[in-house]
Amino acid sequence: MSWRRPDYLVNRHGQTVRFHCDYPRTDALERFMKLTKRVLTEDDYCIVFTGGTRFRVDDETITTPARFIYQALMGEKLSEAVYLIRTCKTPRCCRLSHQSPRKWLHLEGNSS
Ligand SMILES: [Zn+2]
Repeated sequence: MSWRRPDYLVNRHGQTVRFHCDYPRTDALERFMKLTKRVLTEDDYCIVFTGGTRFRVDDETITTPARFIYQALMGEKLSEAVYLIRTCKTPRCCRLSHQSPRKWLHLEGNSS
């Protein structure tokens, strides 16, 4: 009798994910950069993520491209009360300088 690992696991977000054994994998930032392209605008350029609206950072983290690159380059974790607003007009642009963090007012504690 041999023991076999389950094919699917439930991660800490309650999502069912395929089991991964450890293997050398490409760094998330490197994978991300391969899916971006530079788009020239009138006086500047934008960086557009071509891999869709979600980015899988690791087995347990799936986030939006803009949030991922913001957190990767700024080295800080965005709290759930913060969202990013895009300051340019290019759809799916995730260039750091075109993101502006804002707070969800309803997620900050009511202090009246
Ligand atoms: Zn932009």
